Amino acid sequence: MRLSLEIEGNGSAFADGGETETARLLRQAANRIEAGHDCGNLLDINGNTCGAWSFEATAPESAICPDCGTWAEPDAIGQTCNECGRGIIEADEF
Ligand SMILES: [Zn+2]
Repeated sequence: MRLSLEIEGNGSAFADGGETETARLLRQAANRIEAGHDCGNLLDINGNTCGAWSFEATAPESAICPDCGTWAEPDAIGQTCNECGRGIIEADEF
């Protein structure tokens, strides 16, 4: 998966440099993620939309055999390992 998050720090809420407001917005997104949402807008302290975030599903970039540790192409996920003949290739999640 990938999390994209954009903040346009132009409003008066960011006038002091924006560190406090940016941290507040990240907490806002974190709370929404924890509550089970997968996208949302970010509202600055004045109630103005100043950004958005979203999770995107991404295809795994690599795969691995859990038995012998051999790397494999993502196409091989779910197939028996060619190296050891035992393991079932699975996505290598970071
Ligand atoms: Zn293997």
